[in-house]
Amino acid sequence: MRIGTGYDLHRLCEGRALILGGVKIPYEKGLLGHSDADVLTHAIIDSLLGAMGEKDIGTHFPDTDISFKNISSTLLLQKTMQIMENNGYKIVNIDSNIICEKPKLLPFMDKMKENLAPLLNIDESDISIKAKTNEGLDSTGEGEAIAAQCVCLIEKV
Ligand code: MG
Repeated sequence: MRIGTGYDLHRLCEGRALILGGVKIPYEKGLLGHSDADVLTHAIIDSLLGAMGEKDIGTHFPDTDISFKNISSTLLLQKTMQIMENNGYKIVNIDSNIICEKPKLLPFMDKMKENLAPLLNIDESDISIKAKTNEGLDSTGEGEAIAAQCVCLIEKV
């Protein structure tokens, strides 16, 4: 068994859709990035790559590559799962945090799990997504950004 951690943060801006865990969330702002900037999915990908001892998300899916422009991060997760399969690993469970002052994410948690479970080849009960505010402090607390953290456990098939 191997453990991995992932962290990501993206800036909030106007004129972009807010996508978290592959779910479009109604909000006046979205996350800025080369891809769809799905910060939760990026943290999950980096935790999986880290657990395998692979290089990070930016190395595998560089933002200089035009083919990744505005790409759905769930496609990047599918590519990561292909790397998992090639390396002979499967996921045991993942535990994650989204640090977000606004909007409230609780109504969308089940949908995120429903979306991610088939992509990760695990049950929804093996996925934990927790939403935290940052008590009004720093960029996430002031509503300028959303961050995510993820820990995963993987095992050799
Ligand atoms: Mg990112």
